[in-house]
Amino acid sequence: MMKKLKFIPKKKQHSTLKTVLVSLLITSSFYTTAEIIPSEQVIKDITYLASDDLKGRASFSPEIDKAANYIAKRFAEIGLQPLHSESFLQTFTVSQIQPNTLSVNLNGEKISPKNTAIASTIEKLEWDSNVAQVHIINKDDDMRTALRELNQQGGQHLIVIDNSHKKTFKAYQGYFNRGLTKLSLEHSGALVLVLRDDNSVESKIEQYKVSASATITQQTLTNVVGVLPGKQSPEDIVLYSSHYDHLGVTEDGKQIYNGADDDASGTTAVLNLAQFFANKGDNKRSLMFSAFTAEEIGGFGSKYFSQQLNPDHVVAMINIEMIGKPSKFGAGTIWMTGMERSNLGELLNKNLVEINTKIYQDPYPEQGLFYRSDNATLARLGVPAHSFSSTQLDKDQHYHKVTDDINSLDLSSMHKVIETLATATQPLVDGLATPTRIDKAQVRSTGKIY
Ligand SMILES: [Zn+2]
Repeated sequence: MMKKLKFIPKKKQHSTLKTVLVSLLITSSFYTTAEIIPSEQVIKDITYLASDDLKGRASFSPEIDKAANYIAKRFAEIGLQPLHSESFLQTFTVSQIQPNTLSVNLNGEKISPKNTAIASTIEKLEWDSNVAQVHIINKDDDMRTALRELNQQGGQHLIVIDNSHKKTFKAYQGYFNRGLTKLSLEHSGALVLVLRDDNSVESKIEQYKVSASATITQQTLTNVVGVLPGKQSPEDIVLYSSHYDHLGVTEDGKQIYNGADDDASGTTAVLNLAQFFANKGDNKRSLMFSAFTAEEIGGFGSKYFSQQLNPDHVVAMINIEMIGKPSKFGAGTIWMTGMERSNLGELLNKNLVEINTKIYQDPYPEQGLFYRSDNATLARLGVPAHSFSSTQLDKDQHYHKVTDDINSLDLSSMHKVIETLATATQPLVDGLATPTRIDKAQVRSTGKIY
């Protein structure tokens, strides 16, 4: 699950010895009822994916490739087929744009670098009272909204900001200084921010001069995708997904963001649902299983994936995010994001009556979680794409912390969630239920620049 604003988490002091005693986690309650999905394999998968060996599965790290290879190996063992190519690994390139220099002159006055910031996808930028549109953000304006709108619009903008927004400006400055990652530089643009020092810059910009440079490098990322072809309507796809990347290690390299809940838990679900439906072997529709990369840094894995198939063929997307701990509705329960946007939840709940449970509505609408995972990318294309979760995000002490390790999970609850998802989605798999499409016009678009 992505942060609301993608600022890197602060260093944590907490240090634990991450000893995983799997035997202690297998409580007797696992075996009191017949399992439809073996908990032993669930524990094996999450133990490996959340292990220190993978160093927090940071995008671009060598360790995330180890995680990808593990998932690919499991897909092969399960008997899935690759999509389009020989390999389960769907590798692609992104551009990383690191700002180098930035100099700004307004009305003939040089602005101190501490009061300037840039988000740009352009390698060399030269403005001499031309090219850019000039905007003033006054004291009473909503700076975040103004920036979001310009970001969605794209193009080149010079934005002069009232000093009362200093704190917000600093947050954006820190974020932009870390550079940008883009799947494509096609819709390029630049935002140059200038924080007005109370008495220096006039509110009216008569002339401006801006020059900036950035270094653009190419890096590769990898999704892992496997298919179980449908026996009756192979062109219809039911997509099960998660993201397998996380935040890596702390800045000093001493502590690991294991991301056991976020989202080794969802990836474990994807693997074990693949196993479950492959063993049954009677899926009428094609089932696609995807572990996305680079969710935490902007959802690039799902963006690339969505361009590799016709989204009209995706009947539903079951994106599984943070299911490692009991939800506020109790152990083994699940809620879904954007439930009102399609009738998928209603259809899934029909099949849950027999096991006396249901999928709840997202209890944290104020958090904007529909937009904070990979489902949003497919929803923008009209797919009934939702995230299924059990996190208590409002009070989760481990979210994006180094303590999100396997010891913080309730594996029995997680196992139950996976089994519930198997039962809930059976009518989709059998071709007996087809949810309504999401209205694309009602899904907010992403920014063009940052
Ligand atoms: Zn996250």
